Amino acid sequence: MTNYEYDKFFELSLDMLCIAGADGYFKCVNSSFERIIGWTKEELLSQHFTNFIHPDDVTSSMKEMEKLNDKIPTLSFTNRYRCKNGQYKSLSWTAFPDPESHLLYAVAHDISELEELSALASTDFLTSLYNRTALTSRFDFNINLMSRIKRPLSVLMVDVDFFKKYNDSHGHLAGDEALKTIASLLTNSLRTTDVVARFGGEEFAIILPDTKEEDAIHMAERCQTAITNNNWIIEPVTVSIGVSTQVFSNSLTSTKDSETIRTDLLSKADQALYKAKENGRNCIIHFSNIDI
Ligand code: GH3
Ligand code: MG
Ligand code: MG
Repeated sequence: MTNYEYDKFFELSLDMLCIAGADGYFKCVNSSFERIIGWTKEELLSQHFTNFIHPDDVTSSMKEMEKLNDKIPTLSFTNRYRCKNGQYKSLSWTAFPDPESHLLYAVAHDISELEELSALASTDFLTSLYNRTALTSRFDFNINLMSRIKRPLSVLMVDVDFFKKYNDSHGHLAGDEALKTIASLLTNSLRTTDVVARFGGEEFAIILPDTKEEDAIHMAERCQTAITNNNWIIEPVTVSIGVSTQVFSNSLTSTKDSETIRTDLLSKADQALYKAKENGRNCIIHFSNIDI
């Protein structure tokens, strides 16, 4: 191919193509840069690349640059670039160092929409909590992790009491608002490493990694108190909570094991919840305290 033909391909690419120096300055960028992030070629070439990167991604980007300078290619590194309009775009990079010229040849793919879609797919529309699909993958991740480090894992199954009556008395929209309030009260009562999900309807499932039975009951009490003490304008709302705990002694051998443990923990928390309802509601029961 002639230089002319190479140039044509360079400009035609929908991905962002560039050549950069080891000094952190772009030497050449194609027109996709301007189309995607808004900066002109002149603007991009005149500033160090870190000036365009999200502050939280600068350190990791510099490390990646050091690796490239040590002749280690980049295969799928993601960082956020600041666009001319102030927004950020997530870019996934592939880059190769050229040992002779000491230049870096790089391709960036805009994955912002993909990230937004994947966040939408794992989020419950009403409450913005994780949905059931997202719960499953985070649950299995935590089961595998806790099993490896031999720490306990607990589950809370939270169900709103007499919620059908609440809906019937105040309407579905008021019911929706109550569910949103409960979602944020639960999230604020827990640690950032805990996983809160809308399990369905007026039920929420919570995964508590590294939490033994008594601590799980304590966390359940915090959730219950936050909901009971909330300033409910229309009518007070209470919840019942079923709790289950898995203590790990041996490492899991296959992913099937995590599925079995997940199902078992959910089933036990559900049985405990059923007992809590039977006991009059607005209470907490751990599976180990029920007679089967
Ligand atoms: P219990 O104390 O035994 O749990 O009684 P309950 O009335 O809460 O239980 P039931 O399963 O009979 O009813 C659940 C109600 O939750 C019925 C349904 O209308 C309501 N619900 C489920 N999902 C939603 C939702 O997304 N929005 C609203 N507003 N209500 C919902
Ligand atoms: Mg229910
Ligand atoms: Mg209910």
